[in-house]
Amino acid sequence: MAQKTQKRPKRRKKRKIPAARRKQIALALSILAILMAAAIAAIIGRDRGAASVSRGIPQPDTVNVKVSDQVLEENQPEIELALLTPNPYSRPQLATDEITGIVIHYVGNPGSSAMANRDYFEGLKSGANETYASSHFIVGLEGEIVQCIPTAEVAYASNDRNHDTIAIEVCHPDKDGKFSDVTYASLVHLTGWLCEYLEVQPSEIIRHYDVSGKKCPKYYVEHEDAWETFKQDVTGWVADHQ
Ligand SMILES: [Zn+2]
Repeated sequence: MAQKTQKRPKRRKKRKIPAARRKQIALALSILAILMAAAIAAIIGRDRGAASVSRGIPQPDTVNVKVSDQVLEENQPEIELALLTPNPYSRPQLATDEITGIVIHYVGNPGSSAMANRDYFEGLKSGANETYASSHFIVGLEGEIVQCIPTAEVAYASNDRNHDTIAIEVCHPDKDGKFSDVTYASLVHLTGWLCEYLEVQPSEIIRHYDVSGKKCPKYYVEHEDAWETFKQDVTGWVADHQ
């Protein structure tokens, strides 16, 4: 009953803002707008500046890796197909997820050839030493490229990143792990081409070290500048082969 007789609360009168105060608010808002416009202009200007500074040296994120099938075909390096026999230890025939990176390794066995390393992976199929290891590609001492696993299948090379990366093992003459010039040139070519083929940005090229902390590829873990140069060389290759 009491509810019925209760009066609705009066609506509050809208408070009128005095004209002088309104002017102040309008002034503050326009100052704010000017400041924001200036900030936006500064940010755009800075980006433009950065772009002009880096002109001539393509940055990893600015390279267009999408090329036509014709360009892809023209740019393809010579690859010797020597696929491993399907087996649980080195070619499990698991489908990869979308590829979002390329992982560079060194074989860690100075003077060994690409085919010898391929044959080592093949030998794991017996399961005798219960080792799980492989790589999609191996670049040899003469620059030759051997493919062991199709790019649509997982290789056992890069720990947590096996499912979404392509692995490249690289041969080296000495135990310091530095790649010879001919091997290096071939690796740049293969990696650059794979960036185009798989639409992976050169900025997504990593070392085994970046995945697991393993000192692989040794020389390029110990020489950060050489690793940066390699990525820059791949970026340059992609920019030159569009
Ligand atoms: Zn490795």
